[in-house]
Amino acid sequence: MDNIIEIKNVTYEYTEDEATHIAVKNLSLNIERGSFTVILGHNGSGKSTLAKMLNGLNKPTLGTILVDGINTLAEETEIEVKRRVGMVFQNPDNQLIASIVEEDVAFGPENLGLPPKEIRQRVDSALKAVGMEEFVSSTPHRLSGGQKQRIAIAGIIAMEPECLVLDEPTAMLDPKGRREIVDTLHKLNKEKGITVILITHYMEEAENADRVLVMNDGEIISDGKPHEVFQNVEMLKSVGLDVPQTTELLYALQKNGFKVNTNVISVTDTAREIKKVLEGV
Ligand code: ADP
Ligand code: MG
Repeated sequence: MDNIIEIKNVTYEYTEDEATHIAVKNLSLNIERGSFTVILGHNGSGKSTLAKMLNGLNKPTLGTILVDGINTLAEETEIEVKRRVGMVFQNPDNQLIASIVEEDVAFGPENLGLPPKEIRQRVDSALKAVGMEEFVSSTPHRLSGGQKQRIAIAGIIAMEPECLVLDEPTAMLDPKGRREIVDTLHKLNKEKGITVILITHYMEEAENADRVLVMNDGEIISDGKPHEVFQNVEMLKSVGLDVPQTTELLYALQKNGFKVNTNVISVTDTAREIKKVLEGV
């Protein structure tokens, strides 16, 4: 298998006032190149600590992380790691710097020292990729939250990373903004082959992922396809996560003796299952 990221026995400890806190515990995990992974977990489960290790912002206390085969601990290749793994954070306002959208998106490529013509191409292509090309000359602060976050993503895409790590990029957005972001990420994944690692606590955002990981207390406690992970309703509830309402409904029907398939998540598929019940199939 072709892995863009390999995590081997990684532990991360925070030390504060001589007390240590283990935020990530002996974690091993590979991320396949071109895949779309969603990481779920309640607050404090170690998601952000892990995310920041993926582009070298955090260095493992123990163990190794290889990005495209490059060890994130090696100082001389830090820039190589950062080029491959782009990070997007929760608050779009903290990530937008310039007063015009195109200047903002150009910021990263300019820092890479690229020629102006190449920068122009990258800015246009990145804005197109996130569906924001018509806002090239707009002022970021006048855009909606979802639009701002898409501009922030464009700024990262313009540096042409292999992999995007997004740490709760939808947490501050309304439902429409959240859908815009998730749709954009799937488009980038499919059309540009960018590996996506999306951290979220909205279960619905995991619906179309290739893989879902659930973190709890610094460990991965579940790993599989979305419908496989969401089968474990009790386990998810025990770690403070709500399963998607569609899944919960199907389980309730099944408990009451109806023959439904609980492997589905989307509203459309769930409706089809309920239709089968109503028609007595
Ligand atoms: P999540 O992103 O899943 O909410 P975090 O990675 O932010 O989790 O935090 C994991 C654990 O590490 C939590 O118990 C948190 O309190 C602790 N932690 C996070 N950042 C720091 C820090 N800078 N100093 C000390 N402890 C921290
Ligand atoms: Mg976090």
